[in-house]
Amino acid sequence: MEAPVFDIQRFSVHDGPGIRTLVFLKGCGLRCPWCSNPESQLSQPQLMLYPEKCIGCHKCLEVCEFGAIFVEGEQLHYNRQLCRACGKCAEVCPAEARKLVGKYVDVDYVIKEIEKDALFYRNSGGGVTFGGGEPALFPEFVKAISTECRKRGINVAIETCGYAPWRNLKTIAASVDLIMFDLKHMDAHTHRKLCGHSNKLILDNLEKLCTLGGNEIIVRMPIIPGLNDEEENIHNTAEFVLSLGGAISRIELLPYHKFGIKKYERLGMLYQIEDVEVPSDEHMIAIRKIMEKYGLHVKIV
Ligand code: SF4
Ligand code: SF4
Repeated sequence: MEAPVFDIQRFSVHDGPGIRTLVFLKGCGLRCPWCSNPESQLSQPQLMLYPEKCIGCHKCLEVCEFGAIFVEGEQLHYNRQLCRACGKCAEVCPAEARKLVGKYVDVDYVIKEIEKDALFYRNSGGGVTFGGGEPALFPEFVKAISTECRKRGINVAIETCGYAPWRNLKTIAASVDLIMFDLKHMDAHTHRKLCGHSNKLILDNLEKLCTLGGNEIIVRMPIIPGLNDEEENIHNTAEFVLSLGGAISRIELLPYHKFGIKKYERLGMLYQIEDVEVPSDEHMIAIRKIMEKYGLHVKIV
């Protein structure tokens, strides 16, 4: 069984307890404009360009069979529409100016990668976190790996945007310890405007997960100034979490950052919220305080 993965990062301390290996799956149904992993949105492989590294050797030009690389004037050009993401140019480029992101890997490959740090998980209470992209689009793949990990005493977490069929989330929930569930906006219309789809399926899924039991669930909320940080949305989010009857162990607030902007350019994508400012510490604390008034455990991460 295989699934598209675009990165496996070791020694993370941010996405779940202890030292963790992060497995990034490729493919997501939402299109949040602040996404810091734009290479995670499409499930198929994509070519990323690093033109500042190019030494002009034209080796890529020689191997491209699809006319996606061509010379005009003195300059080397690339036509993404013609590119089939075969990766041949990236293989021959001596300067690492081209990189293919995303490849189909099997369950055994991922388990072997995870097992490399088994000692660190044991000593730190860590494990593996599936993120992306949306891991719930690949439920059987995640379940197969998670089941093996748990047999070996390795803690398993997923980070999900919740936009996936309920049966997928249910399948995964049975095989993981921790679910980090993103909530971006409580208003269905605004959610659709921001992320491309209504939040109905997402909220329904979270409610159902909470009634299942058996997992720790953390709600994660990115704070994007001017897009989802209005007081009304903060209150509505807190009220919704409260309505879940104590099933959520805490809310984590994630301040907006701009670390992913350069990747958009490398993928030939447009970053649409360049003007949005990073929230101040004071603003994050003010949001945390609003939520804490509901008796919720809230953490800025
Ligand atoms: S990935 Fe393949 S098709 Fe695309 S530019 Fe490189 S060689 Fe050409
Ligand atoms: S192979 Fe790499 S370094 Fe050579 S021209 Fe192509 S992108 Fe530039």
